[in-house]
Amino acid sequence: MLWRGRRQSDNVEDQRSDSGGGFGGGLGGSPGQFRIPVGGRAGGGGSIIFVILVVLAGWYFGFDPSQILGDGSGGLVPGGGGQITDNSGSQDSTGAPASDEMKQFVATVLAETEDTWTGIFKASGLTYEDPKLVLFSGQIRSACGFASSAAGPFYCPGDHKVYLDMTFFQQLDQQFGASGEFARAYVIAHEVGHHVQNLTGIMSKFDQMRQSMGEAEANQMSVKVELQADCFAGVWAHYTAQKGILEQGDMESALNAAKQIGDDTLQKKMQGYIVPESFNHGTSAQRQTWLARGYKSGKLSDCDTFNNPV
Ligand SMILES: [Zn+2]
Repeated sequence: MLWRGRRQSDNVEDQRSDSGGGFGGGLGGSPGQFRIPVGGRAGGGGSIIFVILVVLAGWYFGFDPSQILGDGSGGLVPGGGGQITDNSGSQDSTGAPASDEMKQFVATVLAETEDTWTGIFKASGLTYEDPKLVLFSGQIRSACGFASSAAGPFYCPGDHKVYLDMTFFQQLDQQFGASGEFARAYVIAHEVGHHVQNLTGIMSKFDQMRQSMGEAEANQMSVKVELQADCFAGVWAHYTAQKGILEQGDMESALNAAKQIGDDTLQKKMQGYIVPESFNHGTSAQRQTWLARGYKSGKLSDCDTFNNPV
């Protein structure tokens, strides 16, 4: 990806030097996080939230993209309640190395997502609200509770923030066999995809509906939410390609990443066998399919995982 020299987002909050401080326990994913699955942690509380959102999303994606976004207008306003903001005064003042290249890469990819989604929303007469991206190290407290970097990157609907410990990128490369810059860009774009789901009201509806679902049903819903986020990442990649800044092999890197973090591939790797009922992000084939689908057309209407077989 030809990212150097392009705009970097100022929505990155660098909390690497202070994350973990004062927060003793609470490792692992908390309900409400939408995260890339890592290391067989599937089946936690996070899947429940996924389920609800997916169901709700179905209401929206039966329509064309403008109607979709329009219907979700209530969701475009940040839900103010229940936020635990621990970011006051800490961002940009942590003394973390401001110039490190990976941070610049992340800030540039985030900026590209801002530009793309601002344009897509605008085309529907709506305003895109940028998410924040919090860089942390070790563990962090979000509006969704405590989280460890072992749980992987995640998006918290409660505070509209993507949380990323950049050591995940090394893990992606070395442990999961997903190397390449654009594999990393895909991870960021996937989390931003959850933000889009949040803004369009899909997440809040999913959250309501999950309460009447059993675990298996919730997992199925979760898969639909996750695959849609993959598809949205593909939509972003579509527009990024149109800018002429993708390099040969970039999309292949992203598709390989989608393959490597599929539920079946991860479970085989971690435990030697698969438990399909526990899948909550989608199989490798599903994740690749939906990422490629969004990439091919660039249309949100092609990302309706709720009204189509996945
Ligand atoms: Zn996700």
